[in-house]
Amino acid sequence: MKRVETIYWPGGKERALTLSYDDGRFEDYRLVEMLNKYGIKSTFHLCIPELLAKLIGGAALVDPKDYESLYRGHEISCHMAHHPFPAWMPDEAIRAEVTDNRLYLEALCGYPVRGMSYPYGSFSERVIRVCRSAGMEYSRTVRETGEFAVPENFMLWDPTCHHSRADSELIERFMRPLNYDRMRLMYVWGHSYEFSDEERWSRMEEFCKSIGGRDDIWYATNIEIVDYMNAVRSLRFAEQCTSVYNPTCTDVWISVDFEKVMIPAGMTVKL
Ligand SMILES: [Zn+2]
Repeated sequence: MKRVETIYWPGGKERALTLSYDDGRFEDYRLVEMLNKYGIKSTFHLCIPELLAKLIGGAALVDPKDYESLYRGHEISCHMAHHPFPAWMPDEAIRAEVTDNRLYLEALCGYPVRGMSYPYGSFSERVIRVCRSAGMEYSRTVRETGEFAVPENFMLWDPTCHHSRADSELIERFMRPLNYDRMRLMYVWGHSYEFSDEERWSRMEEFCKSIGGRDDIWYATNIEIVDYMNAVRSLRFAEQCTSVYNPTCTDVWISVDFEKVMIPAGMTVKL
């Protein structure tokens, strides 16, 4: 029997990088320009700006008229309408927070908005259940792992680290030759207003320069990671893995006796 593992990113790549930035603060304009320069993709978790504005006083936000053009090539995603503490809310209020947020963002971006991050990192089993029933397919927490694992449950998506800890040591660990693992995911999150001085901006640029524009990393938004993993998890194997059927519209790469094998969309492959 062959050794079969479902563990490579698109193109047979062994590493993927995804980012997310919350709250849609004005500094996103500069951040997106930097990410685009280095070919890095991010997800932007956004509230309804006039509701968030009441919470953050005079802090400047991205103009919603710019959402579609600014975040093109990245992903617009939910952060709940008012930036509330969902764990403190009744189910009905949680559902309204997600639904109002989705309707607002979808009207601006023109595509289904399918994910979120928990405001203040606030969640519970109940919050997860209600958010999922409102159409959310993933949600990021603020619990850092320091690791590069792919989450089993995307509604409990713990990131690798906050951008303040995305340093050269982290990149070195990420790029180190793979050993028992064959697939790594680095997830860095933050708020763009945290780049409060030029030194912090230049540290972020250093990070982007070191890790961006490489052929051996897949740069993806949060939902692209989810969609790819859903395709991986949809593969249907014959008993003892003598063949595999890919019922999805995504090519998927797996490991067969340590060789990379592509399972094309809609095809059955003998292993
Ligand atoms: Zn937030």
